[in-house]
Amino acid sequence: MKHILLLAGFLLTFSPLFSQVTIHRDPTIESMIQELSRTRIQQDIEKLVSFHTRHTLSNQTGTKQGVGAALHWVKAEMEKSIPQSDGRLSVSFDSYPLGPNNRRVTRNVTLKNVIAVLKGTNPEDNRIFLVSAHLDSRGDDINDSTSYEPGADDDGSGVAALLEMVRIMSKHPYSGTLIFTVVTGEEQGLYGSRHIAEKAKKENWNLVAMLNNDMIGQSRSSGTELSNNTTVRVFSEGVPAYETEQMARLRAFVAGENDSKSRELARYVKEVGERYVDQLTVNLIYRPDRYGRGGDQFYFSKLGFTAVRICESHENYDRTHKVPRMENGVQLGDLPQFVDYEYVRKNTGINLATLASLAEAPYEPQHTQVQIFDLTNSTTLTWKTPDKGVKPAGYYVLMRATDQPMWQRKYYVTGNKVTLPYSKDNYIFAVQSVDSRGHESLPVIPLPQFKR
Ligand SMILES: [Zn+2]
Repeated sequence: MKHILLLAGFLLTFSPLFSQVTIHRDPTIESMIQELSRTRIQQDIEKLVSFHTRHTLSNQTGTKQGVGAALHWVKAEMEKSIPQSDGRLSVSFDSYPLGPNNRRVTRNVTLKNVIAVLKGTNPEDNRIFLVSAHLDSRGDDINDSTSYEPGADDDGSGVAALLEMVRIMSKHPYSGTLIFTVVTGEEQGLYGSRHIAEKAKKENWNLVAMLNNDMIGQSRSSGTELSNNTTVRVFSEGVPAYETEQMARLRAFVAGENDSKSRELARYVKEVGERYVDQLTVNLIYRPDRYGRGGDQFYFSKLGFTAVRICESHENYDRTHKVPRMENGVQLGDLPQFVDYEYVRKNTGINLATLASLAEAPYEPQHTQVQIFDLTNSTTLTWKTPDKGVKPAGYYVLMRATDQPMWQRKYYVTGNKVTLPYSKDNYIFAVQSVDSRGHESLPVIPLPQFKR
């Protein structure tokens, strides 16, 4: 038996030296992870490369080459899963005009994204969980839209991950809605993802989490020659990009600089991802993205959504943004033979596990508070049962020392209040809802309760 059911009480992960990690897997999610196919991922990436270039300003109308052909292929590939989805999956183009507005967009164009929506089955659950990758590729010159720009890893790997998830996940129901977006315009200035983030804001989507996958298939670094397909990075912002003055005051008051919503999502990806995917460690990077570079999570964060970027641990600059050629005996270019398909499979797995777990979980606990009106050496937390969605079977009260990156203790509580003999001054606490099958919501950091 692979399912080790022991987590009912609390999980101790204080130190790997003298404690064990208890793993409890939902058999449905576990079976979906087992279904992930390295071969299909490889075939998808090779197909994406066959379009010669997927540059945003490349041929829009061709049937074999250019971004237009690639967009149609991605849409058709996702549509193949509609019959197995019981009418829950729909796939469409999201088109919008863009003028020649800077050095990266030189003429009038109509840009397109592909959006696949897998509708939730609970009519009162309006939560949305979104996963994204970019279809467009580039070479050395950002405006070169005709050269061979294979983009096997950047971001063929992310697109292949989404295609594989749609195939597997659309067979199963979820309480909340999943949205898969394959965008263009990323390299020209994040246009596609910005368009979707702005739509989400304007239409008031209850978008709980956004996962951006950009370069998840390269496992060998240039220069340092590190070879590693057992770690992956999750970038998350510490201080929210949309922080208001009022939010900043609260952050200072509770010392919440390491507990932004994006950081909690990153911890969730680590905990749930590692629960389901073997031979993979998720490394949290306490940064919104790499130095001077961004990704499709950017406008989601900027507009106040909770978003993270998933990215390979070691980048290879012989691959990134290079038209394939030999230089000083070195093969340059983002070619499919340099993609580690097993690595893409595992990185797809952490996305799948996170999305399935979140979409099946109850809503987060409401009005979560920590009592600070008395001077005591214990901590009392209170919260209310969410009034929508799956009814929680209970709650996990999470606790960690203030200098620790990950939650260290997890108490299972069935009521709406707990008092623990640990000082709130020395620990950080959070509460998450959990259903009877172990799907947890994102953790909620309690607000200070000043008056009795
Ligand atoms: Zn990219």
